[in-house]
Amino acid sequence: MSKLEIKDLHVAIGEKEIVKGFNLTINGGEVHAIMGPNGTGKSTLSKAIAGHPDYHITSGDVLLDGRSILAMEPDERARAGLFLAFQYPSEIPGVTIANFLRAALQARLADGEEIDATAYYKRLYSKMDLLKIDRKFTSRAVNDGFSGGEKKRCEILQMAMIEPNFALMDETDSGLDIDALKIVAEGVNAMRNPNLGVLMITHYQRLLDYIVPDQVHVMWDGRIIKSGDKNLALELEAKGYDWVKKELAHA
Ligand code: ADP
Ligand code: MG
Repeated sequence: MSKLEIKDLHVAIGEKEIVKGFNLTINGGEVHAIMGPNGTGKSTLSKAIAGHPDYHITSGDVLLDGRSILAMEPDERARAGLFLAFQYPSEIPGVTIANFLRAALQARLADGEEIDATAYYKRLYSKMDLLKIDRKFTSRAVNDGFSGGEKKRCEILQMAMIEPNFALMDETDSGLDIDALKIVAEGVNAMRNPNLGVLMITHYQRLLDYIVPDQVHVMWDGRIIKSGDKNLALELEAKGYDWVKKELAHA
């Protein structure tokens, strides 16, 4: 079983500190939800962990199975088992989904090893069936002209194909209508296993009706200010975030 440890992480963009002492440990098999208002640093946290060059980790550490990933390039982090599903996925005109995913899988093989095309397509189609994605999609360019919901499904398809040890999902629910949300949730639930840990960033409680988290954390001003079980998400939905802040002020 693998373990992702985020230890007293501080992240700055330029001169501005955005993440201010974030601590969290995720074990394989666990789903943790991070909730919090816009601008609290949720996306900054996930991009910094993925290794985005604009997000500078000024102190703290991120350990994957006890080993710091901070000196690793983004592609090494991916090969070590980390996956980031973006809040705003990029469009890659001219590269089909089929070729893109194949290249992503090929990149994880040892030099000289080749993906077996028949096995690859069999796997791709079974994952697409799981996520109820039309097969016509494979010949379309990655995210090019996709709706918000289609982009999110494409992110989940990538995750299903790559089978990471840890997935950071940044507002995968945004832009999805309720049917698409259920399909994505079913897909993630189907992927849940002791070898996958999930950090699910969400602004709304709705996703958590379908993907039931082991723990819910409230992020405010760059750090976790409250943690609880799935009921915390319901409480937040009913009372808003100010309630947590007031509680904190009186503690
Ligand atoms: P969240 O995902 O919780 O809504 P973000 O991590 O996107 O929050 O943003 C946190 C803060 O960092 C905001 O004040 C935002 O304006 C700022 N920020 C995020 N990305 C950038 C960037 N690339 N350049 C400058 N400021 C940024
Ligand atoms: Mg965000």
